[in-house]
Amino acid sequence: MDINNLIRDNIKSLKPYASARDEFKEFSSDLIFLDANENPFDNGVNRYPDPLQMTLKSKLSEIKNISIDNILLGNGSDEILDLIIRVFCEPNADNIITLPPTYGMYEVLANTNAVEIKSVMLNDNFQPDIKAILDKADTNSKILFLCSPNNPTANSLKADIIEELLKSFQGIVVIDEAYIDFSNEASWLGRLNEFPNLIVTQTLSKAYGMAGIRLGVCYASKKIISTLNRIKPPYNINALTQQKALDRLLDIGIVKTETATILNERDKLIQELSEVNFVDKVYPSDANFILIKVDDADKRYNQLLENGIVVRNRTHQPNCKNCLRFTVGTAIENNTLIKTLKNIQ
Ligand SMILES: *Cc1c(COP(=O)(O)O)cnc(C)c1O
Repeated sequence: MDINNLIRDNIKSLKPYASARDEFKEFSSDLIFLDANENPFDNGVNRYPDPLQMTLKSKLSEIKNISIDNILLGNGSDEILDLIIRVFCEPNADNIITLPPTYGMYEVLANTNAVEIKSVMLNDNFQPDIKAILDKADTNSKILFLCSPNNPTANSLKADIIEELLKSFQGIVVIDEAYIDFSNEASWLGRLNEFPNLIVTQTLSKAYGMAGIRLGVCYASKKIISTLNRIKPPYNINALTQQKALDRLLDIGIVKTETATILNERDKLIQELSEVNFVDKVYPSDANFILIKVDDADKRYNQLLENGIVVRNRTHQPNCKNCLRFTVGTAIENNTLIKTLKNIQ
């Protein structure tokens, strides 16, 4: 597959914005910078941030054992997903394929870019239906979004199914691994070299505990990364975010400890939820949240709210009738949740 044929012509021909700082990044501190109309008085953030975030990407490159040229950072995964759609999908002509029930942003981002959405439901086990996907795809189907572990269903998509889709879908396959740190499945990062059409996205918003700084990470071939770099806003990752993220990556032990605690709490919660009398089903989870089916989702959602507990009501998602989604909280929060569920009638 030649990725070049999938990239929009206007993206191939555009001249990227060259920021003042691009040309002089190697020299840094002993130069006098009079090129970017900044305020010269140092307060820690008076200079524009590194547009390519080299320090942060070097650290990520080391942790993930992947070249810097295979990494792009975004202002949250959401920015990355938007850039991907804009590189590959011609407005009012191309389409993307999503597999509901899944993350709502793929659809929103496609809509804002005037890109058609073709939906192919996950099957009853929340796995992709390969034949239905390939039947629905046409020559304008540029991107297939796979979310694994999937939100809101919490399961991982089967590796053999994903592999089959990577081989047979004639476009870009994005695997959204926002929850991969909570799963025992291997990341697809390790297989980037095998599939030129593969893009893996991860985020610091979940296991890394940094939803507030907005940092998404995209891994793909050098060709795809350099193309995304051509259209990204020059200073998309601010200086405070770069610093905070780096501090966290330098102290990765904390992330591991917190993730282990969350997984332990998740398993306790799954056990306790199954003992609540109006809970009909607790779905298996590979993520930091749990999907359950109850007798009446609207009623239970409101009762929880009256008790000061906010959960996500997913009852209107396809195949999720009467489903609620709970994020795994602290031990105290989870105990309060369980106590409340056992008390309400
Ligand atoms: C939470 C989540 C993300 C993270 O998005 P950010 O913009 O990085 O915070 C991405 N994909 C899925 C499926 C999610 O649930």
